[in-house]
Amino acid sequence: MSTPGPERVILAVAVPSPLKRVFDYLPDRDAPDDGWVAGVRVRVPFGRRSVIGVVVEVRGHSDVPVDRLRRIETLIDRSPLPGDWLWLCRFAARYYQHSLGETISSAMPTLLRQGRPLEARSQARWFITERGHTPGDALARAPRQAELLAAIAQHPRGLVTPAIAALGFNRAQLNALRDKQLIDCREESVAAPASERSARTLAEPTLPLNREQAAVLAELHQDMDRFQVSLLHGVTGSGKTEVYLQLIEAVLDRGRQALVLVPEIGLTPQTLSRFRKRFNAPVITLHSGLNDSERLDSWEAARSGRAAVLIGTRSAVFTPMARPGVIIVDEEHDGSFKQQDSLRYHARDLAIVRARHHGIPIVLGSATPSLESLSRARDGHYRHLRLNTRAGNAAPAILSLVDLRGKPQRGGLGPQALTAIKEHLQAGRQVLVFVNRRGFAPTLTCHQCGWLAECPQCDARMTLHRDPHRLICHHCEQQRGVPDACPKCGSADLRPQGAGTERTEEALQEAFSDTRILRIDRDTTRRRDALEKTLTEIHKGACCLLVGTQMLAKGHHFPHVTLVVVVNADGGLYSADFRALEHSAQLLTQVAGRAGRAQHPGRVLVQTLHPEDPSLRLLAEEGYDALAEELLSERRLAGLPPFRFMALMRGESARMEAVIELFTQAGDAVRAWLNERGLAVHCLGPVPAPMERRQNRYHAQLLLSSDKRSALHEASAWLDEWMSQQADARRLRYSIDIDPQEMC
Ligand code: ADP
Ligand code: ZN
Ligand code: ZN
Repeated sequence: MSTPGPERVILAVAVPSPLKRVFDYLPDRDAPDDGWVAGVRVRVPFGRRSVIGVVVEVRGHSDVPVDRLRRIETLIDRSPLPGDWLWLCRFAARYYQHSLGETISSAMPTLLRQGRPLEARSQARWFITERGHTPGDALARAPRQAELLAAIAQHPRGLVTPAIAALGFNRAQLNALRDKQLIDCREESVAAPASERSARTLAEPTLPLNREQAAVLAELHQDMDRFQVSLLHGVTGSGKTEVYLQLIEAVLDRGRQALVLVPEIGLTPQTLSRFRKRFNAPVITLHSGLNDSERLDSWEAARSGRAAVLIGTRSAVFTPMARPGVIIVDEEHDGSFKQQDSLRYHARDLAIVRARHHGIPIVLGSATPSLESLSRARDGHYRHLRLNTRAGNAAPAILSLVDLRGKPQRGGLGPQALTAIKEHLQAGRQVLVFVNRRGFAPTLTCHQCGWLAECPQCDARMTLHRDPHRLICHHCEQQRGVPDACPKCGSADLRPQGAGTERTEEALQEAFSDTRILRIDRDTTRRRDALEKTLTEIHKGACCLLVGTQMLAKGHHFPHVTLVVVVNADGGLYSADFRALEHSAQLLTQVAGRAGRAQHPGRVLVQTLHPEDPSLRLLAEEGYDALAEELLSERRLAGLPPFRFMALMRGESARMEAVIELFTQAGDAVRAWLNERGLAVHCLGPVPAPMERRQNRYHAQLLLSSDKRSALHEASAWLDEWMSQQADARRLRYSIDIDPQEMC
């Protein structure tokens, strides 16, 4: 065995494997420009494969005898990936108990993961030429070109291509002006120097802020250079986005970058164009709709500092930034910020950790903040900033509960709702009908014997769809034909039960045959541009009826909608999940916020079979904030998050006994260990999951909870380690979810 000399270099490499450890390698002759450092990608032999990994540590010795270490195959990066980025990957892997190699791999764009070199690409900035100032009659017959020239002339430092596109001009017009030598362009390959950037940040003037907005912005301006979490708690339409925009302006003026995280369906072309129009600086997006090379471009633009504003969904929290200045999480309560498989991270929580690491401010915005953020604001950890009135003087919507008990229904709508819809349509307004389920009806039932269409693979009913006419399970996507007669008793009296979007649409079409009806749900928006087209039509303002699921509830402004009808508000009332009521109240409030944004006050009718339910009444009479207070005190009494921390181990197998047996042993082992260590962590279960059978696999869970995050982490790490040593554990699928959002 050779003794490693002091000069020996061992590279600890994180490879994309579920194994929670790194692997040691020997370098080859080719070293990075500044010697071996953490953060460079290397191709290494791994088992019988060859994989791309990242060096995470350069060591002087290895626990493996040096003559048994393998050598790396190739060095990919001459200089390391950003240190801050690697730090965040390490943090996430440790906190969420995931393999570092897989975490790193999922935090970079596919092309980098595949070994593509990282190269800076350039973008064009257009500016006016000498001749452009006196075009003569060169543009006499090209009015759009003349407008474009005028727009560019207003910006002595030039305009970047995306800003020009956002103003509605196209490439052909740019090329025409260049051919006439009225404008020219310059390629910027790396970050422009700060002096140039700060010259002119705004492409469009800001709105004069109202008093509340101005006060909030002034507070935010006070702490631009240190870590501070602010909860911007503002009713829908109160002008939060305008505050973000003006805060970002200040950030760009300091030569820094802004990262804006939005929910999955919040990243609409409308949102984007609002940002692109405002800033004369590159605004880039990061979301799942980008192809691999677009993704790499965005990532590189952010890393190099070339991009000023980055807007993205969940995974954008991992985008490196050359000069981070602020992070904004819009609709911070939204469930899409939590990833539900693989690395089960919460982008909002990681964003806070990241802001602290950078020493920059972070703003969490919502009309309906999560109870987690509200309680942090109440105990003084976050600064609580309020916007209580709607911007532009729109009146708040009036919300009323409608008792549906014993009332006749058409497509889920009772007489009171139908009358109200009629009135608003007659006045030429738009009406939004919110249904919490897509498809025709939540299930099909036999009126003779009570048979229900159940999924053969899941503990769930199958949803009846009209188009295509099928029964479909929304949990496993299994489909079957719709029977003509009851499979149990042969009766032909089969009826749909309850209402989905298709059925409500059908009933409304019958009742209001002259009215245009637009349905928005996952089935009608599968094509990429379908939602955008529908939204554009809605924004034109012609009288129409909108029927949709929660896709309608988020981020979109419908200034012409004056009535919102919620078909059924009872979904979250009696659920096994302790967060169901919080989520359902957020959704209802968000839907209600769509009404009456412009000059007309809005009305919101909430249909329910439980009009006396105290939570629902509190929500209707006093609003989300009052209900949230109530829910917080209940959670405190019950010892639930945010007053306690949780880790949930889920397991699944083809046989329920297999999961329960192993999880029982795991529970016993962890309890014994906790006892011995004297750690204040509670272990509950195992219990079958709320939906035991899904796709013919059985699910069960074991829950750890504690007042102390560190104790909880220690216990769940121990549990994870224990599981990895069990031969039986290989026969089932299991995972540990830290800070689980859904208890199923
Ligand atoms: P939020 O993000 O809170 O829902 P927005 O920022 O989107 O609110 O503002 C809602 C509407 O009010 C938008 O149409 C916006 O242009 C308008 N608005 C926002 N701030 C102002 C202001 N200070 N003056 C006039 N209109 C405003
Ligand atoms: Zn029957
Ligand atoms: Zn199913």
